[in-house]
Amino acid sequence: MRRLLGSHPSDAGGIAMAARRAGSAGMTTLQIFTAPPTYYGEKAGMKAEKVARFHEALATAGIMPGDVLVHAAYVLNTASPEEEKATRARTGLAKELERTQAIGARGCCFHPGSAGTGNAEAAAIRVGETIRHAVQTLPGTTRVLVENTAGAGKTMGRAPEEIALMLAQVPAELRHRTGYGLDTCHLFAAGHDIASSEASLRGVLDRFEQVIGEPPAFFHLNDSQHPFGSNKDRHALLGEGAIGTLPFQWLLADPRTAAVPCILETPHDYAEVEEEDPGADSADLRMMALLRAWTGAGAA
Ligand SMILES: [Zn+2]
Ligand SMILES: [Zn+2]
Repeated sequence: MRRLLGSHPSDAGGIAMAARRAGSAGMTTLQIFTAPPTYYGEKAGMKAEKVARFHEALATAGIMPGDVLVHAAYVLNTASPEEEKATRARTGLAKELERTQAIGARGCCFHPGSAGTGNAEAAAIRVGETIRHAVQTLPGTTRVLVENTAGAGKTMGRAPEEIALMLAQVPAELRHRTGYGLDTCHLFAAGHDIASSEASLRGVLDRFEQVIGEPPAFFHLNDSQHPFGSNKDRHALLGEGAIGTLPFQWLLADPRTAAVPCILETPHDYAEVEEEDPGADSADLRMMALLRAWTGAGAA
């Protein structure tokens, strides 16, 4: 089976350029932002010409639109007990789903945000209601996916029980429109032992699957700059952080990674990218070579 391996390339020059960079690295999936991630983007739409250019670039790269993952804006705090923040996050997430749907991507993942001064259970329910609002507002098949978090402060989504409570707010007939994904750096930082042995890694995945009732819909493959249980979210290149290379090989050998997007969000060598440069970042090229070697996916 064709493995879905990719990264979140630079979108300097637009999302079509991100797709071209993914193609240059032989990726079979990629992650993008559909609007600047540090803004709410409640009003940002998706122009038909932009979608057309993106699809053209994907076709050249040999990537199916339905294998693309969108990452929602970081500022959306769907867990917030503050009325104004929660309302903006609600509108913002529905808009994320609208843009994700417009480009024909598989789904959009988001960080549930922080409970702030409120209680965690109420926050998880608010997150779930925000998901429900988005999928009820926009009929279709595109998914809204919760990403597990590193667990700093009152951030939600570090434990499978919290994610399960979020997803439980979505009625059964719309349940296929949502789901969750796991970021390895966030798992490790949140104190889920994915690194000491293959059995331990499998145990963590089993627990998420059992508690939530389904396997993850995507993985983010990131090593961690900070130690186990640090609750700090700083990504490192695979093998250059506290997780090391073996756990990534174990993970990619787990059947739960076989058919879902596995996306690198590891540091790039070049922060500045020319808008018209379709070349992949050299760090992404090195990481993709590792993923291909570990999955037997062959050369690009
Ligand atoms: Zn994320
Ligand atoms: Zn992270």
